[in-house]
Amino acid sequence: MSTTDLYLDDILRAARRIAGLVRETPFVEAPVLADETGASTVCLKLESLQNTGAFKVRGAANRILSLTPEEKKRGVITFSTGNHGKAVAYVAGRTGIPAVVCVSEHVPLYRVELIRALGAEVVVKGDSQDEAEAEYFRLRDERGLVPVVPFDDPYIVAGQGTISLEMLTAAPDLDTLLVPLSGGGLLAGVARAAKLINPKIRVVGVSISQSPAMLESLKAGHPVAVEEKDTLADSLLGGIGVENRYTLPIIRDHVDEHVLIDEPEIEKGMYYALARHSLVIEGSAAVGIAALQSGKVSVRDRKVGIVLSGSSVDLPLYLSVVQKFV
Ligand SMILES: *Cc1c(COP(=O)(O)O)cnc(C)c1O
Repeated sequence: MSTTDLYLDDILRAARRIAGLVRETPFVEAPVLADETGASTVCLKLESLQNTGAFKVRGAANRILSLTPEEKKRGVITFSTGNHGKAVAYVAGRTGIPAVVCVSEHVPLYRVELIRALGAEVVVKGDSQDEAEAEYFRLRDERGLVPVVPFDDPYIVAGQGTISLEMLTAAPDLDTLLVPLSGGGLLAGVARAAKLINPKIRVVGVSISQSPAMLESLKAGHPVAVEEKDTLADSLLGGIGVENRYTLPIIRDHVDEHVLIDEPEIEKGMYYALARHSLVIEGSAAVGIAALQSGKVSVRDRKVGIVLSGSSVDLPLYLSVVQKFV
């Protein structure tokens, strides 16, 4: 499948397929942010209130529900402990399709319990992420489980693209979208779907300076690994995959601009969401707000939609961040 093989029909089909597992999230106005930036309107897409606390359930549900009956019976496997692991576990729990999530011994127990409670079998194995990954490949082959990857899959991209259908149905005159960027499933889906509906819409990818793997890969013209540093936006860590096939080309072809956000800017964005909207959002979800607040993206007279991607926070860390501003 090439990038142009993803059409509006695929996104519409995804929306119908996942409707029972995914909620249509609110799209709320942010008048203060509009005032501060000179934008004509700014709206926030609250995927932080999505089932499981992040948008990833859209892609995971679309992938898993598209499997053949025989594949569904065998079950699925993944090795993410973050929002993708939660999403796969949730879909498995709600549909009765077996799911295995492989994690290393270093993953905190509460995360293991959470994924188990949602409905997945958690296999704890190995001293490192690499060993957990080796166990993932072993179990995949031994039990014939179907891998559900976090971003580089057309069904995942189409599932995340359903966010654009909702935003552009609620506000058809949006002309600028800001979207967090890591592996690129979210940005590829939102950008592709939005441009199919309105080719003139401007799509901005927002990366973190602590781990800009997609930006470096776009510059190089092929997937490159970057050194990862500590960040509040932990859901944006990680590479784009050495064999990336989908998200890199879709983003290259459909995204107009990119910005980089640093740690103090992420903190301000998280505080803004709490102070002005009573919303708890994770660092990764705050980068779009930060892109406006920092003035790194000009939105004067624009009609702006920002994706707030999730709300999985480590509570003590979250409190220490917002406390600084009080
Ligand atoms: C996964 C994730 C992202 C990034 O999505 P990609 O498809 O990897 O680019 C952003 N925010 C949150 C909360 C996430 O869980």
